[in-house]
Amino acid sequence: MAVPKRRTSKSRKRKRRTHWKLNAPNLVECPQCHELKLSHRVCPECGYYKGKEVVAK
Ligand SMILES: [Zn+2]
Repeated sequence: MAVPKRRTSKSRKRKRRTHWKLNAPNLVECPQCHELKLSHRVCPECGYYKGKEVVAK
């Protein structure tokens, strides 16, 4: 198995992690109940997705 020849330096590790950040959730308004929901997910308020009730309330 391949093994690193050198220990990753603090600065190299920190430079790599500059691209490692949280992104805000992608909220969109539900067309059915106008609540904010995650895009491409069934609405947790009314259970609708693509104009149909897919999860019973
Ligand atoms: Zn909804």
